[in-house]
Amino acid sequence: MIPPINVDKMVEFLVGLLNTPSPTGDTDRAIAYVQQAFADLPFATQISPKGILTGTWTGARHDAPRALTAHVDTLGAMVKEVKENGRLRLTQLGGWSWTSVEGEGVTIFTANGHTYRGTILPTSASVYAHTREERNATRTDANTEVRIDARTATQQETRDLGIQVGDIVAFDPRVELSDAGFIRSRHLDDKACVATIYAALLALAEAGLQPSQTTTTHISNYEEVGHGAATGFPADLVDLLTVDMAVVAPRQESDEYSVTICAKDSAGPYHLGFRRELEALAEAHSLSYKTDIYPYYASDGEAYWQAGGNVRVGLIGPGVDASHHYERTHRDALKQTAQLIVAYLLS
Ligand SMILES: [Zn+2]
Repeated sequence: MIPPINVDKMVEFLVGLLNTPSPTGDTDRAIAYVQQAFADLPFATQISPKGILTGTWTGARHDAPRALTAHVDTLGAMVKEVKENGRLRLTQLGGWSWTSVEGEGVTIFTANGHTYRGTILPTSASVYAHTREERNATRTDANTEVRIDARTATQQETRDLGIQVGDIVAFDPRVELSDAGFIRSRHLDDKACVATIYAALLALAEAGLQPSQTTTTHISNYEEVGHGAATGFPADLVDLLTVDMAVVAPRQESDEYSVTICAKDSAGPYHLGFRRELEALAEAHSLSYKTDIYPYYASDGEAYWQAGGNVRVGLIGPGVDASHHYERTHRDALKQTAQLIVAYLLS
């Protein structure tokens, strides 16, 4: 029997996390948010020099220690250049397409602690000033800029605001919950999965249970650039269960109502024995699950493998539509994922 998942509390935690900006390279606020929430759980947490949050819950047994990982860092941008017109040219943090952020509101974090609001626009945004050809040009960093909500029309005026090359730019998540149970937001990758881990651990704690094996929870902060979970685990680890979004798109098996168990992504297959155990657990507990393959995807579990991790790596997660764009999932997918995590922890 899987103890009940508090879905409302999971979604409340998720909304707070989504509204805490954390582009890769500027994740301290989100890590602090998670650490505060994890204070409800029966184990202590630590933050590593890299900024990873970990905590180890002693299990009934210690002969095959386990870890769960998910990441709080998200896509974002950095100021590459203060332009002659006072606007900002961006460089990307993580892999996204320029069209996916067009028209998005942003917050710019300056070195002096001030924040400014702005909008990402193509340089040819104005319909009344540009030809159809100019307006339909392929988007690149060169023809996309940030219009700052401040009185500036020159490079010097923007510098006088305290905005510099290297400042972090966060995209507005635009979180919206629908009565039908959908959660629409940027950065559900991978904050939705941090929420499923939180809900799973809370369900265990509130039921007075403990994991069957000693289990380390690892919240990483550089996944979107490939090396988030390359480090930070106990040396005697046997299993690493990575919790990250599943790909909902044409020709994919995943959907927004199920947990997906990933068989293979662009970095290769996951550990087959571990995957078969996860599928058997999902079957045994009558969970709604899919097995899927993601063609252009790599996970933090594989980052640990590539760094030399000698463990079984698996990947599960809720289906998320329109990954790295304006994403969407559903409460049901989060619940199924949290339930599979609990089933695994108790197995
Ligand atoms: Zn992710």
